[in-house]
Amino acid sequence: MSTAVISLERLPVTVLKGVGPKLAAKLDKLGLHTVQDVLFHLPARYLDRTRVTPLAALQPNTSAVIEGEIRACDIVYARRRSLVCRLQDGTGTVTLRFFHFSAAQKDKLLVGTRLRCFGEARRGASGLEFYHPEYEVLDGDTPRPLEARLTPVYPATEGLTQPRMRALATQAIGCLDQHPLTELLPESLRRELHQVSLVEALRYLHAPPSDARVEQLLAGEHPYQRRLAFEELLAHHLSLLLLRRQTQAERAPQLRPDPDVMRRFLQGLPFTPTGAQERVSAEIAADLTQSTPMLRLLQGDVGSGKTLVAALAALTAVTSGFQVAIMAPTEILAEQHRHNFGAWLEPLGIQLGWLTGRLSAGRRRQELEQLASGAAQVAVGTHALFQEDVIFARLGLIIIDEQHRFGVHQRLSLRQKGAHDGLRPHQLIMTATPIPRTLAMSAYADLDSSVIDELPPGRTPVTTVVISQQRRDQVVARVREACAQGRQAYWVCTLIEESETLAAQAAEVTAESLRETLGGLKVGLVHGRLKGKEKEATMKAFKDGAIDLLVATTVIEVGVDVPNASLMIIENPERLGLAQLHQLRGRVGRGAAASHCVLLYGSPLSRHGRERLRIMREHSDGFVIAEEDLRLRGPGEVLGTRQTGDLQFKIADVVRDSDLLPQVQHGAQRLLREHPELCQNIIHRWLGDNPRYLQV
Ligand code: ADP
Ligand code: MG
Repeated sequence: MSTAVISLERLPVTVLKGVGPKLAAKLDKLGLHTVQDVLFHLPARYLDRTRVTPLAALQPNTSAVIEGEIRACDIVYARRRSLVCRLQDGTGTVTLRFFHFSAAQKDKLLVGTRLRCFGEARRGASGLEFYHPEYEVLDGDTPRPLEARLTPVYPATEGLTQPRMRALATQAIGCLDQHPLTELLPESLRRELHQVSLVEALRYLHAPPSDARVEQLLAGEHPYQRRLAFEELLAHHLSLLLLRRQTQAERAPQLRPDPDVMRRFLQGLPFTPTGAQERVSAEIAADLTQSTPMLRLLQGDVGSGKTLVAALAALTAVTSGFQVAIMAPTEILAEQHRHNFGAWLEPLGIQLGWLTGRLSAGRRRQELEQLASGAAQVAVGTHALFQEDVIFARLGLIIIDEQHRFGVHQRLSLRQKGAHDGLRPHQLIMTATPIPRTLAMSAYADLDSSVIDELPPGRTPVTTVVISQQRRDQVVARVREACAQGRQAYWVCTLIEESETLAAQAAEVTAESLRETLGGLKVGLVHGRLKGKEKEATMKAFKDGAIDLLVATTVIEVGVDVPNASLMIIENPERLGLAQLHQLRGRVGRGAAASHCVLLYGSPLSRHGRERLRIMREHSDGFVIAEEDLRLRGPGEVLGTRQTGDLQFKIADVVRDSDLLPQVQHGAQRLLREHPELCQNIIHRWLGDNPRYLQV
């Protein structure tokens, strides 16, 4: 078969010389199936074997080619037996050290012999040393020429050596002469954005010339690397935009508020909505009247009053004759919503449903019937709401709280859920973990976004202090004082491992010891291992003021709302990420009293740990904290493990390459407008058959 016309993305790796089934299996582990895959598998770093470094110019922890004459060569019996060679050139001396060596090897390394070596210089007992360098004896006056190009080092897997990987890459580059690798960026766009061609970039990156800027390459900031990162980011962005187009092609029920009911609802509230709540509610209301499904992300810092905005949207759906599903990530938060929505909506004659994983079979059946018949108009619950056997009569709106815990895949599966009469429900996604703009563009470009940028009036900012465990007594005294003044406090226990069982035990022990020290104060305990009823009772007692100090695991992270609590102690805050700390701290500062958060750390702190606590002490704005979190931990951590998979880039790095995003956005719009036929190809090249992009 002639392979001349087959493009590289369809040419299997087995066409490369030396690739049989065994090697193909190893390449498969690296995700390399086609010649194009091999080309896109870029070096992780480079070695510079293009020049000889004078010994005096050697830098520790860098690889270099060196040349010199052997001045001494002896077997040394120190802690380990080793062969030690002193090598000298006109500028200095280094040591070559071999722990494994043969007699024949030793015999060749005679004093006076000239060597050329390659290896990494490290600081050792006798100054700079090379351990087991590659070396060759230079005899006569015809040394082998040095490499003309930088030597790539590829990300590899077991059983795949670097020479092997290099040989494959060289062959793959060679294939470019006969097989097309389609350039998918139109030339006009490339010229406008100063981007080189794909082929040019790939050729360069697999074998950079000797004058290439190595530091730039190592940092991933070389223009040719950015050319590839750009295309990859573009692919992700386009895929989300196309997903959004698909959604816009679907039909949704048109929901309109009933002005009378709205008025009665607002009159019943103990406060008036903030300007931000009103503005955002209007944005949502406008979406709901459309016949295409709303897909809107509602971002608002902890305590900004997202629940009210959700309730207004829910009311609009219900008065239009549709059901609403409200999903929370934890049982405690779901309970809280049931409480709030119940208090707000039941007086208007609206019936609530309730579904979590912990219902008895009988109760569950009952609830399911209510949802299927449409009797339950607003269903509150956890993931359980979206299990397969849950059927809604007329689902018109889905509200997901604390979105950062749900990934794109889940988002898609929910969209499918409520389809009914060919109508898709609207979706409102609420998050209290502000999503840095850079991430929002790569992970949420399929959503519209509303931001509540104002807190309800009368809040006083939380003062945060960082205190060592060694001063725990002072902190306990502070709790006693606050409670004596009629305030309430949280004491949050954290654990290194994410085991709710261990965390529960730790919280129990802490609660017991605090009960002893704080005799006279009422100490409550909540953790994830308690029965729903117990948890609910404790939370209610805390809310009613019957408990002074609530000891808890991080289960109280989201949603819990007790305005009289004005002091929070977080034990070992260094174990938590910034977003989680911010969430926790948001439990206080909800009333008029000045609130405090004590970060009670265990010393010694790592550099990162200290940095995180400093950020918490200095900042209270969730958006600022989110940006810092992204900088410190990277996108996978910031979005939560569930979403890490959605942001797995081959080459791009959303933090490092964030300055490319405006170009990506612009490029995507232009392509959709002027070259729609290229978009699918770009997506396919970078994302393959990622299920996220399948039809929904
Ligand atoms: P979050 O955005 O964190 O979900 P919540 O919806 O739980 O915030 O609201 C936090 C607290 O602020 C609740 O006690 C809520 O009743 C109260 N609240 C909400 N909106 C207002 C407002 N406009 N004025 C005063 N208090 C408000
Ligand atoms: Mg909330």
